[in-house]
Amino acid sequence: MSEYARYLRQLKERYGDTVYLEEQILREAELAAQGLTEKGGTVTEAWTTAASLAQLNDMICSCTKCSLSETRNKFVFGVGNPRADVVLIGEAPGAEEDKQGEPFVGRAGKLLDKILEAVHFTRDDVFICNILKCRPPNNRDPLPAEVEQCEPYLHRQLALLQPKVMLALGRIAAQTLLRTKDSLTTLRSETHEYQGIPLIVTYHPAALLRNPNWKRPTWEDVQKFRALYDQLSSTEKKGDRS
Ligand code: URA
Repeated sequence: MSEYARYLRQLKERYGDTVYLEEQILREAELAAQGLTEKGGTVTEAWTTAASLAQLNDMICSCTKCSLSETRNKFVFGVGNPRADVVLIGEAPGAEEDKQGEPFVGRAGKLLDKILEAVHFTRDDVFICNILKCRPPNNRDPLPAEVEQCEPYLHRQLALLQPKVMLALGRIAAQTLLRTKDSLTTLRSETHEYQGIPLIVTYHPAALLRNPNWKRPTWEDVQKFRALYDQLSSTEKKGDRS
């Protein structure tokens, strides 16, 4: 029991219901001390009701649900415009991201900025995050158990952001989100849906650094991505007017 809950209970014992310290207040204090909340009779983790990205970050940044919390330097929540219509998503932070607490800040991140520029987006227009918020040791692929624990955080981020379109960066991110083993070539060939949001798949910027031949197809993917964004934005505007 938290100190606060104990204090409230003592007051209630001494003064009974004449003081407005109801059982409910005690219960809420106890639940809050455990990071829980009650809604409509159901107890849930408090972060599931976070009302903003900043609040969500505060509530989850000390997460210890999986063993990556033991090796991380920084929790990498994501960065960008909290009102973004565009979300870019990678698989997990790398070494530099783990150091700085921001996604895509290394060489691959610089290239990502250029890719965004090519379709007239800046980092301030978009929100960038990863499926996993902590770095897997030696940059290994995310494990299913890690995805299971961490992906609900992404779901809450998307519920708060409500983006129009998403771009998955790389095969692992795309396969993980879409629960498939299809090749990157197959995945790039169509527009998918994730949590009800249209999702386009392209190469990971780090892969482009290794193989510049993939720059051209990436350029085509992001043109398609931009066109979809423009189309959805103009549809919404027409909808607004009617
Ligand atoms: N690779 C990713 O998938 N995400 C990052 O944040 C950095 C590198």
